[in-house]
Amino acid sequence: MAGEGSYLIAENGERYLDFTSGIAVNALGYGDAEFVDAVREALETGLVHTSNLYRTRPGAELASWLVANSFADRVFFCNSGAEANEGALKFARRWAREQGGPEKVEIVAFRGSFHGRTFGALAATDRPAFQEPFRPLMPGVRFVTVGRLDELEQALDRTRTAAVIIEPVQAEGGVLPVPADFLRALREACDRAEALLIFDEVQVGLGRTGTLWAHEAAGVEPDLMTLAKPLAGGLPMGAVLLTERVAAAIQPGDHATTFGGGPLVASAALAVCRRIGDSGFLREIRRKGELVSERLGAMALANDRVVAVRGGGLIWGIELSTPAADVVSAALDEKLLLVSAGPRVVRLVPPLNTPDDDLVRGLSILEGVLRG
Ligand code: PLP
Repeated sequence: MAGEGSYLIAENGERYLDFTSGIAVNALGYGDAEFVDAVREALETGLVHTSNLYRTRPGAELASWLVANSFADRVFFCNSGAEANEGALKFARRWAREQGGPEKVEIVAFRGSFHGRTFGALAATDRPAFQEPFRPLMPGVRFVTVGRLDELEQALDRTRTAAVIIEPVQAEGGVLPVPADFLRALREACDRAEALLIFDEVQVGLGRTGTLWAHEAAGVEPDLMTLAKPLAGGLPMGAVLLTERVAAAIQPGDHATTFGGGPLVASAALAVCRRIGDSGFLREIRRKGELVSERLGAMALANDRVVAVRGGGLIWGIELSTPAADVVSAALDEKLLLVSAGPRVVRLVPPLNTPDDDLVRGLSILEGVLRG
């Protein structure tokens, strides 16, 4: 197999237009020249890994870039989205213990959420089927409904609540953007309850929604934010971004990782971040998003199977009245790669630099498949 731009090439030479990006990971597509050069140069230094015993320049530069371009003062590097959320939950609990003592441990999460498969992240993930075989999970998680301020007020408690964790767009849950006014109300409610606010931007951070961070559109800032999928352009990497206020509670030895932030992955991530963080690149994502929005809007009007179209930038969900898996497999026959987000939602997450021609081509294939 090989990859070229927005195409995956199978062993037999067949070319598949990829609107999955390895589930929102390959933000610069396949074989991007700048990315390949950055990885090659990093390899040629001979330093792939040094462990967390030593600081290396790529890790330090990446942390500086993330701090300069976000609300955060500190960054902890790790290796995946679930691990980033696990770290964020631990940091929040550590801070809360300092503030409110051993009772202040609860996490508030949301219905429809997905935060990963490790024990803490799974406990905050609203998927009973994923949780059931692994009970008992981490205790102390309460679920509330997005948009329901009354439920939120009931769940939050100054003496009990350590943190609230939310995805600004629930991606796995069906590409459901959380309304901006709810995110703002959430910030205020967390402040009143002296609880931390964690944004899980593992899937939608780094340009996916057309702004560098998905939460920018709401004009609110979290205390912690987790990143992973696109961060190192396909190499495994995660990060927890946090404020100094939270970082100050974490003591040496509280948390660590052997691989996190190694020089190879950090060099790759620096190339990805600098490229996506460019204002012209982000503007292009928004322009491409408009193009996709218009085409999907027309498809929704013309096709009874389409119940709703949601999203922005280059993440879109098409809710259907029929199983999403049928559309995904019919599109595969037409050499278009799609992924579902729940049983009835088809998700589009093409590489962020997909040329307009490829976007239009993929949307035309989708239109044909939906027509049946
Ligand atoms: N958080 C969100 C919002 C995700 O979409 C995912 C994966 O889909 C995760 C966390 C877990 O990331 P990983 O699969 O890298 O552990």
